[in-house]
Amino acid sequence: MSRPLLIHGGRIVDPSTNLDEIADVLVVGGRIEAVQPGLAGPEDAQRIDARGLVVSPGLIDVHVHFREPGGEHKETIRTGAQSAAAGGFTTVWAMPNTDPPLDDPAAVGFVRQEARRWARRGEGGARVSPVGAASKGLAGVQMTEIGGLVEAGAVAVTDDGHPIADPVLMRRLLEYTQAFDIPVLQHAEDMALSARGVMNEGSVATALGLRGIPNASEAVIVARDILLAELTGGHLHIQHLSARESVEFVRMARDRGVRVTTELTPHHLTLTEEAVQGYRTEAKMNPPLRREEDRQVLRQALIDGVIEMIATDHAPHHYEEKEREFDDAPFGIVGLETALPICLHDLVVSGDMTLSSLIDRMSCAPARAMGIEGGTLRPGSPADIVVFDPEASWLVDADQFRSKSRNTPFSGWRVTGRIRRTIVAGETRFEDSGSTT
Ligand SMILES: [Zn+2]
Repeated sequence: MSRPLLIHGGRIVDPSTNLDEIADVLVVGGRIEAVQPGLAGPEDAQRIDARGLVVSPGLIDVHVHFREPGGEHKETIRTGAQSAAAGGFTTVWAMPNTDPPLDDPAAVGFVRQEARRWARRGEGGARVSPVGAASKGLAGVQMTEIGGLVEAGAVAVTDDGHPIADPVLMRRLLEYTQAFDIPVLQHAEDMALSARGVMNEGSVATALGLRGIPNASEAVIVARDILLAELTGGHLHIQHLSARESVEFVRMARDRGVRVTTELTPHHLTLTEEAVQGYRTEAKMNPPLRREEDRQVLRQALIDGVIEMIATDHAPHHYEEKEREFDDAPFGIVGLETALPICLHDLVVSGDMTLSSLIDRMSCAPARAMGIEGGTLRPGSPADIVVFDPEASWLVDADQFRSKSRNTPFSGWRVTGRIRRTIVAGETRFEDSGSTT
């Protein structure tokens, strides 16, 4: 078991306990022992000076792609977990669209064991929780054996990368997952409406001569699945919302008491279809970047709490793949190491959200919504902690990423907030000496 830790003099921002004050955090045996000013701690404790820094519950991202097995040249579980820790994340949920997919207990167990194996060897990062496939081979036809997946460590099911298109399968999933109290994560997209589009449908796509994906492609599935969640009582989690119409349906679902939760990515928070200009493949994502009106509605919904959490959809791709023609380049960007600074800069520095609310959206809310440990500094909880400098200003340089991949539209952006230390179960998994560029 790790040495006791005394994190001294930081600004504790923990929305789960309504704390925003200067205090010390004592960690013993991998768990939070106490949070209060003037703690002495045991003599053998490692002391960490956090004066001038923020100390918060570690960030939680319920949507990442780590590519192992099958795509190890893009990311592995080891590099993905380290990239997460470098971004201040202490828990991430790995999507099952690997090759082969995580559709049986052995594949699910592999992801969990691999993350733990690297942690034991001193090369760990964030905790990695596998998400099981909802259907065999992600083919959308036959439901996986969810009980076996959960036993092997799956925390949710999804076919992400693809939508769960068949409404009867979706209904069965929402019914069946209730026995295990796990959510169904949906990549909401009507593939027929998307019609092999590569960016948002509208004037920019027309000017560029690219095929567009309409907002309705997402919103029709959001509406359908909300009705199915209402019918079944299951927990529906809609991934990466992008269209303003989707937000309307989610708001309505809330009013009706439907069990639906949602996420917003930092890129849909800050970018629009304009980022695609010049055929920039770093701005090619699915769902696509939408119009400014959509961005404004999504941003406000996050501020209001209608969208309760931020998730990165961290999607590593190799340089050469993103160098292809726009039509042929893969969808997605990496996001773990830029998420907090991008959101801090956009939401908190602008004065539109308090730091405490942002920590809620990136840590407490995902823990609460998914019913998992973490997202709090309450005594007795696992010591999953992030320490960051909320004012450090720096330039994003993808070459410095721990991730194996560099595909980001944020290269060269000046952002605010720098992760100084990430602690998982009382053990430092990332440390930054303090130099800023
Ligand atoms: Zn997706």
